[in-house]
Amino acid sequence: MRILVISDIHANQTALDAVLADAGEIDAAWCLGDLVGYGPDPNECVARVRQLPNLICIIGNHDAAALRYIDTHSFNPEARLAIQWTQEKIEEGTIHFLKNLPEMQVVGNVTLTHGSPRHPVWEYLMDIRTATINFDHFNTQLCFVGHTHLPLMYIFRGDRYIADLVIPDPNTTIQLDGRAILNPGSVGQPRDRDPRAAYAIFDPDNNSWNYRRVEYDIAAVQQRMAAAGLPDRHIQRLAAGW
Ligand code: ZN
Repeated sequence: MRILVISDIHANQTALDAVLADAGEIDAAWCLGDLVGYGPDPNECVARVRQLPNLICIIGNHDAAALRYIDTHSFNPEARLAIQWTQEKIEEGTIHFLKNLPEMQVVGNVTLTHGSPRHPVWEYLMDIRTATINFDHFNTQLCFVGHTHLPLMYIFRGDRYIADLVIPDPNTTIQLDGRAILNPGSVGQPRDRDPRAAYAIFDPDNNSWNYRRVEYDIAAVQQRMAAAGLPDRHIQRLAAGW
């Protein structure tokens, strides 16, 4: 069984299309939030995601901000500008879809959330200490998160006090035996200095995680962002992957 695991599309339709083409035939799709924000194609990305087979989709902080659920003062000025642009741009169908997304979902041996199981929408799992604490906040073997835009995994072995941080090599398959928190990276705005779109294929039949990177036409997205008047810093960062 092939389950597409994607996160942080951030309204980047070109990157999303490249990921879907690279992934090929899939049985299900799990999307870990932040479909909108930063990029120029919020409605198009939501429309694409909605059509994916057996979809489970989680809400992210940018989705919540686009719905005006949260005060954008905690965002930096440029992120706030992008949110305001998104709020004006999103159509009724997009709003309806985003409004119905849950903060967390459990499927089989996997918990799905955007930030962390402890604080689903907001917490960043950037270090092994925070990750270790979060293993007490879900009951399944695995937890899939997004939010940091960093493809990595925290593995927690019962004979240790603290989780290990593992940064997988692109285009590799990893066997998941123990408890782990996994992040597929970001489709539309990678931040690990590799500008290629990131995603994973999870196979629950043999508990394998195929972590992948795929090139896409970054310049085309940058042109649409410039035409939309989106912040220059967000345009530049796509090419450098930060
Ligand atoms: Zn994000």
